[in-house]
Amino acid sequence: MRIVLLGAPGAGKGTQCKSIVAQYGLLHLSSGDILRAERIAGTELGKKAQDYMDSGALVPDEIIIEMMAEAIKKAPAAGFLLDGFPRTVNQAVSLGESLAGNGMKIDVVLNLEIDDNVVAKRMTGRRSCPKCGAVYHVENLKPKVEGQCDNDGTELVQRPDDKPDVVANRLKTYHQQTEPLVDYYRNNGTVYDFDADRNPDEIKTSIFEKLDAPVKT
Ligand code: AMP
Repeated sequence: MRIVLLGAPGAGKGTQCKSIVAQYGLLHLSSGDILRAERIAGTELGKKAQDYMDSGALVPDEIIIEMMAEAIKKAPAAGFLLDGFPRTVNQAVSLGESLAGNGMKIDVVLNLEIDDNVVAKRMTGRRSCPKCGAVYHVENLKPKVEGQCDNDGTELVQRPDDKPDVVANRLKTYHQQTEPLVDYYRNNGTVYDFDADRNPDEIKTSIFEKLDAPVKT
């Protein structure tokens, strides 16, 4: 199964991805995670991406398309789940062409729908551990000791791109450049919509119902 997960930043894509890949044995490919790893490793790619990322803008298509084409090559036969990519119609067209060249296609698109105000609150309150990557929230998922990671006691940080002005910019970028993808995929395949302003388990259950359905028939 080859899946694209769409949704505004902060819609909960990362959480759902973990459940989906565990359930269906897919490779989780998050373009944001790959870019952050490149930055930590100090690669040329990471350096090229950093200013765009920190301002909430998109990294240029040509960089992302090549990076993700390489990543997709490592997917198992069971398939992959794309998270954060494609993010422009241009990226989606390139992805489609590159998959078609290998006799493949995107089988299903999952679209997490959520209000801007809800995600803005979620993102600006998010804190993460720079050491182990654990994620917390100042209101909804507090660590045991304020400001410290439960796993290793490291001081929690706010990702630069979770700061309020950057969040506003990321949402604007999403509406302008990524939301048109929903219609693109509606005209080119199967899109399932999910209300993402619910508890993550409920969302997961609705996603699994849809993903299991074609298998049963
Ligand atoms: P994310 O964690 O998916 O929200 O990604 C963090 C940042 O990485 C985004 O705000 C963009 O600057 C950059 N990024 C991630 N995926 C893409 C993509 N498919 N196209 C362009 N930029 C991306």
